[in-house]
Amino acid sequence: MPQKTKETPMMAQYNAIKKDYPDAFLFYRIGDFYELFYDDAIKGAQLLELTLTARNKSATDPIPMCGVPHHAAQNYIDILVDKGYKVAICEQVEDPRTAVGMVKREVIQLVTPGTIMEQKAATAKSNNYLTALVETKKDQYGFAYTDLSTGELKVSRLAGADAVVNEVMSLRTKELVANHEVTPQILTNLTKLGVLISYQDQVDPRAELSFVTQGLADLTEVKVVEQLLMYLTVTQKRSLAHLQVAEEYEPSEFLKMDHYAKKNLELTTSIRTGQRSGTLLWLLDATKTAMGGRLLKQWLDRPLINATQIKQRQDKVASLMDHFFERSSLQDELTKVYDLERLAGRVAFGNVNGRDLIQLKTSLLQIPKLKAILTDINDGTFDDVIDHLDPVSDVADLIDRAINDEPPLSIKDGNVIKPHYNQKLDDYRDAMKNGKQWIAELQAKERAATGIHTLKIGFNRVFGYYIEVTKANLAALPEDRYERKQTLTNAERFSTPELKEKETLILEAQEKSTALEYDLFTAVREQVKQQIHRLQRLAKGVAALDVLQSFAVVSETYHYVRPTLTKAHDLEIVAGRHPVVEKVLGEQKYIPNDVTMDADNTILLITGPNMSGKSTYMRQLALTVIMAQIGCFIPATKATLPIFDQIFTRIGAADDLISGQSTFMVEMMESNTALAHATENSLILFDEIGRGTATYDGMALAQAIIEYLHDHVHAKTLFSTHYHELTALDTDLPHLRNVHVGAVEENGTLVFLHKMMAGAADKSYGIHVAKLAGLPDSLLTRATTILAGLETQSQAATVETPTLTEKVPEKTPASAAAPVYQVAETPASDETDEQLALFDYQESNVSKPELKVLDELKELNLMSMTPMDVMNTLYKWQKRL
Ligand code: ATP
Repeated sequence: MPQKTKETPMMAQYNAIKKDYPDAFLFYRIGDFYELFYDDAIKGAQLLELTLTARNKSATDPIPMCGVPHHAAQNYIDILVDKGYKVAICEQVEDPRTAVGMVKREVIQLVTPGTIMEQKAATAKSNNYLTALVETKKDQYGFAYTDLSTGELKVSRLAGADAVVNEVMSLRTKELVANHEVTPQILTNLTKLGVLISYQDQVDPRAELSFVTQGLADLTEVKVVEQLLMYLTVTQKRSLAHLQVAEEYEPSEFLKMDHYAKKNLELTTSIRTGQRSGTLLWLLDATKTAMGGRLLKQWLDRPLINATQIKQRQDKVASLMDHFFERSSLQDELTKVYDLERLAGRVAFGNVNGRDLIQLKTSLLQIPKLKAILTDINDGTFDDVIDHLDPVSDVADLIDRAINDEPPLSIKDGNVIKPHYNQKLDDYRDAMKNGKQWIAELQAKERAATGIHTLKIGFNRVFGYYIEVTKANLAALPEDRYERKQTLTNAERFSTPELKEKETLILEAQEKSTALEYDLFTAVREQVKQQIHRLQRLAKGVAALDVLQSFAVVSETYHYVRPTLTKAHDLEIVAGRHPVVEKVLGEQKYIPNDVTMDADNTILLITGPNMSGKSTYMRQLALTVIMAQIGCFIPATKATLPIFDQIFTRIGAADDLISGQSTFMVEMMESNTALAHATENSLILFDEIGRGTATYDGMALAQAIIEYLHDHVHAKTLFSTHYHELTALDTDLPHLRNVHVGAVEENGTLVFLHKMMAGAADKSYGIHVAKLAGLPDSLLTRATTILAGLETQSQAATVETPTLTEKVPEKTPASAAAPVYQVAETPASDETDEQLALFDYQESNVSKPELKVLDELKELNLMSMTPMDVMNTLYKWQKRL
């Protein structure tokens, strides 16, 4: 009859430990395995594809169980943490051979998505940030983040939930440490966005980590950093000496972009593939070190707005471009520099091995060379970088004296410490060597004495040293010469008291020497640990140098120019290119385009067929601005740029995961953010605003938005649209200019010119593009017929267009595609009447456009226009008249 399982002492221990880690998988060490029990086992077996078994199978309540071998555990831990889970690693903390009763076990580390130390090669150039949040008053937050592997720690104060979500998403953090004082709604929203929320309510600041907060005066900032430190202390349970002093930052001190803008502009991740390839980061990354790679990403996330700082970077890039040979020597040296920042982190964490220290030494040995090259070309430009390049030669010397050049992976099996570093170790090694020599001599002596040439002396872990004689030769062995030890199928193994004695000596020396080597290694590690902050400062210098040389390489390769920064509102880019599209297409195939805007020309209304290059043109400007403000040169032949404070984008369809808003709602919310926050120093990219709703609503909103931007915001705005009606706005909005991307029809096929031209596009060519996409001929013919019908209706309806004073019906059926504006739904404003008159060709308004056309004709510079431009202008006038 099956019985109920009685709780064994081991399961009692397990349950007691598990109680403290309810939200983590508990990896409970038993011998060579980590075992999972109960729900952890059921879920773990599924996630890790392990076989689910049970303890006490025959009981009425067997305990589900599964396990992983300890040597392969890291893989399994990585999988779980990658999926957003936490793993508590519970080890045997006393030697089972000497333990009395139950072996003591403790959780030695809680691995969480935000606290991964072991970085894979693929993530060497990315940071893994753990963030923390406190809320002091409603909508007032303290926010901090750290990368545990590098020790970087930054802190800020944020106002409003949006700002928090924005920081969290921009940092791509996987985990946020909150407390229960934080408004739950914001945490729920972050959970929906895939961020794991951990709580740390009890905070008990550690004296040894007080250096981290020492420079902070703001109590909210201190509070959030201490919460973060407490979480790290309780989860990591080891030295955090590599954490850097908390650095305050103010998001408004950088070019602001919300995370949607960063995503839409594909700064670091491609929207389509989710990869680096095809992004601005991918283009700009010619860094040679992992530190440089990470810093480049950080610079891209936070472009500068301070002209002096930008110019300092530009000066360095210019100098590195001018010094080709020195630059290539710098690159050669940088290639040999390993990840100093993460090595420093691992030194503090206590998980470096001999090979890591050799990497550290190799890296440090390059620093004097880097410094010499830079000093050679320095005219003051590189003073700050050179100042960071401390070769930390005491550490390099120490490692050079102590650590073998090719040490094994393990630090517990010896062979890590160099000869002559420690006398005692040398003595043990001599003893081992002499002992082994004696054994070799014994073998020769015994062969001679017995005449058995195949006699050999061997060693195994169980029996130690033995003399082996094959069965065939046993007869030749004098009786009682040796003591019998072991019988094999083909041989007998023997020993002698002398051999036994030597064996003891050798094994003792070996054991002592490995133990001593381990101690010596730990001591070296501790000494290196004392210099961690110097190593981190050096790493910062190397990283910056690496990014700057990367800018120089990319700028030279793709013929970028140094932009002139201006305090005025003038923007002039001559022959600008989209850097990424150009790289993909090749320089020859990309058609450069100019952008000219100033305080009197703030809005460019862009029309042109689908696929002609409107989005590319808009993105090109944003990427150019970002490149300029991170200090890189830009893809153009000449450029003058103002410094932008913010970039807003409304490009493509975005889902709002947080509140499940519709695409159109998101479109309107993003538009609203831009209208509310943009200044005259901002850049706004609006791609086809309004297309997410019915034509008239969309067109009405688009016009109202343009007017609002024109009259109230004055930000530089690129607005692309398929609503051709909007192009008439240039008559009455003096700061708006029409531009269009040229395309010509050749034998019924559309040819894109990708050239930006003055004036509005003639038509949209949607059906032509559909043809290019390969839609069935019959469908295209039908679409052409429908279009013709709609156009006829539209012309007929134009005659009946209501005058401005007329009331427009509340709802226009979607099928009646007349270009009538729903005046009643447009907010009333003084200018509204005049704007709407653009679409109303009644006699009372005729004189104004006519006069304007005459003015424009007088101003026209025919000699500078292409025939296509002339055609377009004539067409536009004809349409307007
Ligand atoms: P839609 O209205 O359908 O969104 P669009 O006008 O915004 O289209 P883009 O997506 O900007 O068109 O461009 C389409 C393609 O045209 C790009 O992927 C690129 O390959 C090519 N292209 C755009 N601009 C240029 C250029 N200046 N030179 C060469 N090729 C270009």
